[in-house]
Amino acid sequence: MSSEQRELESRIKALHKAQGEKAPAPAIISLLDGLKKDVRPTEEMLRTTKAGLVVGKLRGHANKDIGKAANDVVSKWRKIVEEEKKAKGLHAPGGRLRDSTSPGSKAASPAPKPILTGGSKKAYEGNPDTRKFTTDNIDVKRTDSQIRNNCIGVLYNGLAYRSTEPEDTVLIKAMAVEAAAFKAYKGETQAYKEKVRSLFQNLKVKNNSDLGRNVMSGAITPEKFVVMTSKQLQSAEQRKLDAELEEDNMKRAQVPMVEKSISDSLECSACKKKMVSYSQAQTRSADEPMTTFCECMNCGKRWKFS
Ligand SMILES: [Zn+2]
Repeated sequence: MSSEQRELESRIKALHKAQGEKAPAPAIISLLDGLKKDVRPTEEMLRTTKAGLVVGKLRGHANKDIGKAANDVVSKWRKIVEEEKKAKGLHAPGGRLRDSTSPGSKAASPAPKPILTGGSKKAYEGNPDTRKFTTDNIDVKRTDSQIRNNCIGVLYNGLAYRSTEPEDTVLIKAMAVEAAAFKAYKGETQAYKEKVRSLFQNLKVKNNSDLGRNVMSGAITPEKFVVMTSKQLQSAEQRKLDAELEEDNMKRAQVPMVEKSISDSLECSACKKKMVSYSQAQTRSADEPMTTFCECMNCGKRWKFS
């Protein structure tokens, strides 16, 4: 047991005793002030000494000054514990999790370093709409290649957007996707870079939040994700819209506005006969000129003009 912990324990004992003896408020407040000023407990120490519990209860004390002093202690301890967690967390070496996906090729770059995490699995509490690896304080230098690290960062930003998954979960997924792209596109090729860019852009599309969710949940594996076509990457909504538009265009292009008729003013340039049948159709958008499709009934020559 550390001296720090013994110190905390004896102070908590004194506080407990003072309460039991109904000590005057200033005595209890002074004990609380001492706890605030002189002790720097770890989360572990707070648990084993039950200090958090004892002081926490005092926050509801009938005497407002005692309540406030206890509250001050609790908020300071909370801060200390958070700092402790952060220090032990994503940035300290010696984490437990390892990257499960290796780049899988004999490329020059060695396998990514292990994920450095203390294993905090708390859901993200910031604003998911502005999440980036920079705001999340994540080190994306996981390979010896600057290009690959940049790609991990870009994928992190895409996957973290609108997500409340913990930082290391997003990082692991970003690394797995990067490794899958690295393998599928045979190293740091143009195709690899373009794919990562395109995945990012699709993840950031406003009405396409399903995509990121499916990748994070594993419904879409990293291996599948990196070979999806741009059509597959689109949101269901966008796909439906595109299909409608396409169908619309087809209809417009196909519906002749004037039934086939023989013109006596159109002359076939091949046989010079005035036996040309024609039809007209609106193509593309309505403000473009109509196209006239012609067929010579004598020699079979076909042409069009607009
Ligand atoms: Zn003709």
